[in-house]
Amino acid sequence: MADSSSTKIFLEEKEIPRQWYNIAADLPCPLPPPLHPGTGKPIGPDDLAPLFPMGLILQEVSQERWIDIPEEVLKIYTLWRPSPLYRARRLEEVLKTPARIYYKYEGVSPAGSHKPNTAIAQAYFNKKEGVKRLSTETGAGQWGSALALACNFFGLECKVYMVKVSYHQKPYRRSMMETWGAKVVASPSSDTQGGRKILAEDPNSPGSLGIAISEAVEDAATRDDTHYSLGSVLNHVLLHQTVIGLEAKKQLAAVGETPDIVIGCCGGGSNFAGLSFPFLADKIHGKQLRAIAVEPAACPTLTRGVYTYDFGDTVGVTPLVAMYTLGHKFVPAGIHAGGLRYHGDSPLVCLLVKEGLVEARAYLQNPVFEAAITFARSEAILPAPESAHAIRAVIDEAERCRLEGKAQTILFNLSGHGHFDMGAYDAYLSGKLEDYELPQESIDRALKDLASLPKVS
Ligand SMILES: *Cc1c(COP(=O)(O)O)cnc(C)c1O
Repeated sequence: MADSSSTKIFLEEKEIPRQWYNIAADLPCPLPPPLHPGTGKPIGPDDLAPLFPMGLILQEVSQERWIDIPEEVLKIYTLWRPSPLYRARRLEEVLKTPARIYYKYEGVSPAGSHKPNTAIAQAYFNKKEGVKRLSTETGAGQWGSALALACNFFGLECKVYMVKVSYHQKPYRRSMMETWGAKVVASPSSDTQGGRKILAEDPNSPGSLGIAISEAVEDAATRDDTHYSLGSVLNHVLLHQTVIGLEAKKQLAAVGETPDIVIGCCGGGSNFAGLSFPFLADKIHGKQLRAIAVEPAACPTLTRGVYTYDFGDTVGVTPLVAMYTLGHKFVPAGIHAGGLRYHGDSPLVCLLVKEGLVEARAYLQNPVFEAAITFARSEAILPAPESAHAIRAVIDEAERCRLEGKAQTILFNLSGHGHFDMGAYDAYLSGKLEDYELPQESIDRALKDLASLPKVS
């Protein structure tokens, strides 16, 4: 049994949550509906059917608070779930903070991040409806790895469009995907019309998540045997990730704790949502809690974007969704937190930021890696550069607690390990990592393309 002196707090396999938590049932106001990219009219489940299985579409629009996790998915979850909750005692000591710091470690999954929590569920629902092949995009390679793993379990083919800069920066992520049986191409690629068009305009395009999404969507839309799979942003993806927060709640309860602050890094919003939504359910119903989503200053969607309708991809083939966005044409700088380089964010997370239930902040790369090193030298785990954004915020909050003499409880999501990111660590350790803050003119330019799109009423 865990007690207040424990370093790791474990649950039994039988304590894995049997249901996902759907925050749509508790929102303070409804999500603006997604709109058809051509007509601008609200889309229905049938519009999504060429891309997704009905099982996932129904989750996407569901208002039910609890949604059952299928037995087959639970069985695969047991390979690494429940994930451990750690008390970061050594970090607390280094920081001389009265705060108590806990982290949920999702790097124990076979792919090294939280992403298999949804990949397994998505592959399952596709397989169940007779789909043979899934197409997807990947930035840093974590999502591609997770989906390759999931497809391998269910005997599905997997085609991954990998953002070109990452394809060259992280060759071993590609090897990992291929080991699990996926086919991987650098995006923009010559395999799709969208990719060929971008290559014709700019043969040296470094690619972006938005471009890779366009390619993967086109692939699925033009083949009968193929569906598309997205690793973040969508409601059903965030839903699947709530196993993280639901487990964390039980683990904290086992040592008599409730968090004052919940922190996660935010790329598309899925690991932040996965940890925080089960706690935000209590905040919506009156409990005191701060939830902080952390993003890079080079891609400051929540902190400097505008809340409006925008495409999920660059070409403009996905539905329009209401979110904080830097514009679908935005191509972020090649920072090392590849998983945090998306021009938009999950509509659910954006709504919660807009309604004041979630705080957002942005950090530069060097302070983020400084935090990663402090963490690695105290807690020993090498965090993913994405997760290190959360750690930066945790250290700053713990420092505030020290100055104010407050013994608050801080919980954060250590969304993955950084074993494939040693190039980024090298750059930091040799003083070659550049801080890049997005200039306002670059935001203004990217936002111009939004003028002709519908507005949130
Ligand atoms: C993909 C990824 C992220 C960012 O994606 P979210 O959907 O915002 O969670 C963060 N951390 C790690 C380790 C990732 O792989």
